[in-house]
Amino acid sequence: MPSQFSRKFSRPSAITTLMEDLNQGVRDPNSLMLGGGNPAQIPEVKSRLQNYLESAVADGALLEAVSNYDGPLGSDSFRDALAGLLSDYFGTGVTPQHIALTNGSQSAFFALANLFAGRRADGSLKKILLPMSPEYIGYSDLGVNDDLFISHPAKITLLPDREFKYQIDFDRFVLDDSIGMVLTSCPTNPTGNMLTDSELAELDSRCQQAGVPLLLDCAYGAPFPNILFEDTRLPFNDNIILCLSLSKLGLPGVRCGIVVAAPELISRMANLAGVISLAPGSLGPVITEPMVRSGEILRLSTEVIRPYYKEKSAIMMKALKQAIPDPRFRIHKSEGAIFLWLWFDGLSISSQQLYEKLKNRGLIVVAGHHFFPGISEQSDHINACIRVSYAQPNEVLQQAIKILSEEVNPLYEEQ
Ligand code: PLP
Repeated sequence: MPSQFSRKFSRPSAITTLMEDLNQGVRDPNSLMLGGGNPAQIPEVKSRLQNYLESAVADGALLEAVSNYDGPLGSDSFRDALAGLLSDYFGTGVTPQHIALTNGSQSAFFALANLFAGRRADGSLKKILLPMSPEYIGYSDLGVNDDLFISHPAKITLLPDREFKYQIDFDRFVLDDSIGMVLTSCPTNPTGNMLTDSELAELDSRCQQAGVPLLLDCAYGAPFPNILFEDTRLPFNDNIILCLSLSKLGLPGVRCGIVVAAPELISRMANLAGVISLAPGSLGPVITEPMVRSGEILRLSTEVIRPYYKEKSAIMMKALKQAIPDPRFRIHKSEGAIFLWLWFDGLSISSQQLYEKLKNRGLIVVAGHHFFPGISEQSDHINACIRVSYAQPNEVLQQAIKILSEEVNPLYEEQ
């Protein structure tokens, strides 16, 4: 009989299916790839990274870094530089002992999910509460145990100009003994939603009261790459686990995730890292350490990366609204991250069917129903949304909008 672990990974997970689609889209030069989470190729960012890479080669730091194993928590000097930057950012003492590096934040989520949730000695299952859905597809299969997630539908507020915003339904947010961790992406993949400061404060205080850790996945957010269109002040204390990443800054290939949390948890991460990977990769830290030390990483994020995405998001929103005039079509308010979340209310086909039609025409998006891990109740809304990335060049986005409108408008017109 196979182990539970083996059974779990004998079937494809939602994230694997997505990554396969992504690869297919990237390989086929004719397809329009709005499905993945690849960051945009921003010329100014690339040229700065090129400079850092060249100087790391020239002064021997790169060769030195890749010629040696780091410790299980990753490069000491990078963690030291980052601790300084985060202490200034949070106005509180963050030390290198608060920081663990991992091979991408996805692998940190796997470790953390299974540290805080899963089957207990008495046979009961400790779960992870996602305060609202939709939420990131990459969380869906994190648990060694199935059914690890529990979530509730977001409240929907309709906004002017065919936009809407999701909010946490705090009446349904219950932290009892069955919950081992609360997890949320901020800003959110897939919707571009950002929790308000008051939602973050309420989450933080409820989690502290219940003694349940709160994991804030800031892969797109503050302090870097800061793809957030309004300023937010993140809370940080001993109950919060912050996950950051170098990926959306422009370095997904170096696979560098960053966990910032109380030292006691970080030392557990070290024990786990030693077993799983010996040490995280050293390329990301060696390339970016000078920009962390000088603070340029914050300038680049706020003055280059953020405005770049903000402008693209606005252009894409406007073009979509023009191309699909039906009042039943709405877009989630774009507050950050690199996606738009499109709601085709009252369409005669599901988002999965729409995804297939678009894929047949060479346009890759992601059907929205994947983004509801842990939801027990069905609703039309779950099958009425798709996620599109706007990180591609504007010409690609224009062609994609044309195809999307050609598929959707006739369906709305015939109803
Ligand atoms: N968190 C969110 C919300 C993401 O969308 C992604 C990647 O798309 C990640 C984390 C994973 O980032 P990493 O490349 O650090 O594993």
